[in-house]
Amino acid sequence: MADVDLIKSRLTAHPDFPKKGIVFLDIFPILRDPQVFEALISHVVHHITSHSVGLASNNKIDVIVGLDARGFLLGPIVALRLGAAFVPVRKKGKLPGQCIQASYEKEYGTDVFEMQADAIQSGQNVVVIDDLIATGGSAKAAGELVKNLGGNVLEYIFIIELLFLKASSKLDAPVYSIVQTD
Ligand code: 5GP
Repeated sequence: MADVDLIKSRLTAHPDFPKKGIVFLDIFPILRDPQVFEALISHVVHHITSHSVGLASNNKIDVIVGLDARGFLLGPIVALRLGAAFVPVRKKGKLPGQCIQASYEKEYGTDVFEMQADAIQSGQNVVVIDDLIATGGSAKAAGELVKNLGGNVLEYIFIIELLFLKASSKLDAPVYSIVQTD
């Protein structure tokens, strides 16, 4: 658990960001220190190899899906360590080629996520990664994109989970988070 304490110690809380009433938890101080960043990546890779793969019928993770934007900082490194593919989920209008879409609720209105239509093959085993899960709306939309292409979402992994929002009850695969806050 020393790695969890180290990761936790580098999270910083920013009251009233990006607007009044919101306390934003910043993960970037973790990335500033290679030792702490390494502890984070190793923790996630260890969780996947010791737990997530056991949820796959063939004990193999094919794809790591990272969410726009901070999921892009973790996902490709984790994917490389596992010998898996990395696939981004991006906000609408940013990805070239044929894309599929899923919408999700934000605090005000809806937003649309996209994934390239040829990015995941039917039957592939997928783990979804992002920095933080709040309401779970964005993770749920990412899961829908994976399933629409025939992929199996084995697990959703986050650095931080805001437990009071009970997001895991909205998702149809287990949630793993390193740090939980109330
Ligand atoms: P949700 O869709 O679960 O309500 O929101 C999660 C998304 O919002 C994630 O993509 C996450 O990056 C972003 N997010 C919301 N609040 C915070 C926060 O306090 N800190 C960070 N790092 N990301 C946040």
